Amino acid sequence: MTVLPICITGEPVLHRVAEPIRAFDDELQTLVADMFETMEAAPGVGLAAPQIGLAKRIFVYDWTDEEGVRTRGVAANPELWIAPPPVGIAEDDEEEGCLSIPGERFALKRSERAILRAQDEHGEHYELEASGWLARILQHEYDHLNGILYADRLDAFGTKGVAKAIKRNRWGVAGNSWLPGVDDLEG
Ligand code: ZN
Repeated sequence: MTVLPICITGEPVLHRVAEPIRAFDDELQTLVADMFETMEAAPGVGLAAPQIGLAKRIFVYDWTDEEGVRTRGVAANPELWIAPPPVGIAEDDEEEGCLSIPGERFALKRSERAILRAQDEHGEHYELEASGWLARILQHEYDHLNGILYADRLDAFGTKGVAKAIKRNRWGVAGNSWLPGVDDLEG
């Protein structure tokens, strides 16, 4: 298994719609193993293929809730159903981050519940009902497959904050990435 470099905002693959997974072959098994390894090294709770430079509709997730229940999986060719997110100003405890905008956190309202329908790494179809932070992770990762970063959904305050971070770090153009375990950006 290999830890892969993570693309930073501005890399075109992060900002376009990804292509369906068609073959559940050995190559895909290697990709999934590498994605888990990269997510764990970051560390992160979710990672989508565009973040490692591949325009493919697949993400991995690994979340342990307050009661110690762990949900770990692969979502290929996912569909996601959500209720409209609650209205109002996002609170501090709703701060979200993204490995493609490393080291930054901004508050964002998300739907409390989500239903995921996807295929696992072997092509088996499954359904997952999620709430709370797991529902947030699924919404975040699903967005990545459609070229949407959480930064694209922020309010005016958050949008300004992200723009500052991008300017400060000279992101926002193609060619920027970081390597978990080498560059300590999310520690
Ligand atoms: Zn992200």
